[in-house]
Amino acid sequence: MKLLVTELDRRLRGSPYQGYAYAYPHKTAYRPFAEPLPLSEVWRDEGREALFLYAHVPFCEFRCGFCNLFTQTNPQESLVERWLATLARQVEQTGQALGPASFARLAVGGGTPTQLELPQLARLFELLRSLGARPEQVPVSCEMSPDTVDPDKLALLREAGVDRASMGVQSFLEDEARAAGRPQRTARVEQAVEWIQAAGFPLVNLDLIYGLPGQTEESWLFSLARLVELGPSETFLYPLYVRPLTGLGKRDGADQDYVLGDPERDPRLRLYRLGREFLLERGYEQVSMRLFRQRGQDLPPGPAYSCQQDGMVGLGVGARSYTRALHYASEYAVGAKGVRSIIADWVERSDAELARADYGTRLDPEEQRRRFTIQSLLHSAGLDRVAYRARFGSDPEQDLPELTELEPRGLAAWQGEVLRLTPAGFERSDVLGPWLYSAAVNEQMAGYELT
Ligand code: SF4
Repeated sequence: MKLLVTELDRRLRGSPYQGYAYAYPHKTAYRPFAEPLPLSEVWRDEGREALFLYAHVPFCEFRCGFCNLFTQTNPQESLVERWLATLARQVEQTGQALGPASFARLAVGGGTPTQLELPQLARLFELLRSLGARPEQVPVSCEMSPDTVDPDKLALLREAGVDRASMGVQSFLEDEARAAGRPQRTARVEQAVEWIQAAGFPLVNLDLIYGLPGQTEESWLFSLARLVELGPSETFLYPLYVRPLTGLGKRDGADQDYVLGDPERDPRLRLYRLGREFLLERGYEQVSMRLFRQRGQDLPPGPAYSCQQDGMVGLGVGARSYTRALHYASEYAVGAKGVRSIIADWVERSDAELARADYGTRLDPEEQRRRFTIQSLLHSAGLDRVAYRARFGSDPEQDLPELTELEPRGLAAWQGEVLRLTPAGFERSDVLGPWLYSAAVNEQMAGYELT
């Protein structure tokens, strides 16, 4: 049977790297609300039995050339202290707005949480506890970087209940990391991994990037081999995206030897396939296009939590919060000037300002269905029709008829009641995610002016 050429076919003819759908809607679809909303109202009708608590530390030692996360480099000590004091006030306001709440998952990210000094890290965990979080009873993840960890900080994190240590390595070759705007010594990276392992975190995640300037198949395999020798329980393999206002983004075009997106020369798909095969042959299984986990790896026990359904409370400037129908955050920027100015404003916020949401996006029933679908489909767990029906009272193919295009194109297959991506679908995750965005979200994203 001849298939009609659809929007999906058009997208499949383009780059496999059209957008990373790690959260939907993307934060570039956020806008100021016409009227700020009291947090007590935002959370009033939400289930609060199994929330995700996320704390964002918006500081790093340096800005990696590929990074577009919300972070300020080398902040003055007085700014970090003011940030921590504002965080304490935000925790108090959030606690009052939430009322009784239980947290099923915790994560501390950034930025680089371990950029904080030891007493500041201890204070951060005290604040999370004061909001009702019980890190010793639920899975807790913390991000870190090679140059900012030491045995004392790691011991503190372990004692505080952190069971997943996550560190970006990006490459085990110094020249390659440097060319990507991340000056690091491999000896220090390996020392940091050794300390993390000695501290006894049950789950260790190490990230690598493919598509780096100057990276070859050989150098990619070298980093993968070193990674596997170190034996992390999980690894994220990230395709490089060169984004506006990042170090590499500003340099892009100046370096004629390095062109991503050129179908003839873009190495990412080839490197992805190599990396995937390398890890599958060495005892890892694929959880998503980026995430691979050691087969048989036990995840830390904890209460049931579903990222498609349960809410998230974000703390700190740069963190996002999700209820079913509203996502909110502080404003977002990538450039140093924009980030500095947002953080400087945030630490001056009054208690009343910290007690309301003033920037974000609303999710109508259609957007809620799309979010559930995108987050389920791009994960190995797949899109479960029964869970979808229980949540929305309808079938996914009825709400999003385009889903029926996946199976005939070999990108996904129904296994009983679950629609799962095939390997061909996984490697096109960054096409399928954006393909499922609504027209309204695409329009908002296109109209966003990045600073
Ligand atoms: S990649 Fe990590 S360490 Fe580098 S600037 Fe971004 S948040 Fe900081």
